[in-house]
Amino acid sequence: MSLSKYNQKRDFKQTQEPKGKMGKSENELIFVVQKHAASHLHYDFRLEMDGVLKSWAVPKGPSMDPELKRLAMMVEDHPYSYKDFEGTIPTGNYGAGNVIVWDNGTYTSDEPTENPEKKLLDDLKKGHLSFILKGDKLKGEFSLVKLKGKQENAWLLIKKKDQDATETDILGQNKSVLSRRTLEELEEKSKKVIPNETTKPAIKRNAKTSPASASFIKPMLADTKADSFDDSDWVFENKYDGYRAIAVINPDDVALFSRNKISFNVPFKPIADELQKIDHAAVLDGEIVVEDENGKASF
Ligand code: MN
Repeated sequence: MSLSKYNQKRDFKQTQEPKGKMGKSENELIFVVQKHAASHLHYDFRLEMDGVLKSWAVPKGPSMDPELKRLAMMVEDHPYSYKDFEGTIPTGNYGAGNVIVWDNGTYTSDEPTENPEKKLLDDLKKGHLSFILKGDKLKGEFSLVKLKGKQENAWLLIKKKDQDATETDILGQNKSVLSRRTLEELEEKSKKVIPNETTKPAIKRNAKTSPASASFIKPMLADTKADSFDDSDWVFENKYDGYRAIAVINPDDVALFSRNKISFNVPFKPIADELQKIDHAAVLDGEIVVEDENGKASF
C-alpha cells in the first residue's frame, strides 16, 4: 500500500499528523504546499493523485519565475487528509518542527483530456508532468521534471512562461492560507503551549517512563437535596446535561467509558484520540456535552 512508508515513519501517539488513509476530492484534484521548519526549512509540494498526495520537498520553495528551477526531492506519499495539517510535530519525531499550509487550491493537467488524473499519473511514471495550479499564491502552468542520472528522487519544479509568471519573490507572502499566521507566529505559540517540547526529547511511552497504571473507577453520582447550602469543604460546579465519561489513560492505551463502564471509544472517538496526547497514566472524570449558542449544555 502506497501509504505504508508514511505510517511507518510516524508515531501517531505523539504526532498530531493524520494517520495514513486514502481519500479523494469530489470534484477537482487538489494541491497543497506546506512550509515546514524541520531540521532544514523547506516547502512540501503535494499533488493529489490516486487517493494520496504525491509529495516533493522543495528546499528553496516554489518560484513564479521561469528562470528559477527549483530542486524538488520526491518523498513518500502522504494521506489525502494531510492537506489540512498545520501545527507542531513534537521533538524526537520524524519531521519534528512547525508546519503551516502556505498555499492550496485545485489543479489539473495542462492538456485538455478526458481523464486528467490518469494522464497525470502516466506522466508521473514517465518522470515529466505539466499542470495548471489554481491556488491563492501559485497560479498558472508548472512542470515537474525528473532529473536523469542524478539522485534517484531528484526532480525540478519549474514555472512555465505564461501570464502568471513573475520575477517577484512569491515566498515573501509568508502567511498560512488557513490561519493567516506565519510560521514564526506558530513557533512562538508552540513554545508557549509546550514549554518543554523544544528542550526535552520526546520519549516513547512505555512502562519505564510511566510506571503507574490506571484502571476504571466507578464515579460518584450527583444527589438531590431539599435545600441549597454553603460549606467551605465543598466546591460547586455547573450541572451539565451530557454524557458522564471516565477516561482511563495508560501508556499504550486510552479507554473511554460511560459511568457504567460501557465503552465510549467508538461514539466519542475524536475525544479518545485527543486524550492520547496525555503522556502519563491518569483517570479523568468528565462530562461530554454540546453547548448551544448561549453556552447551555443540552442533549
Ligand atoms: Mn516536510
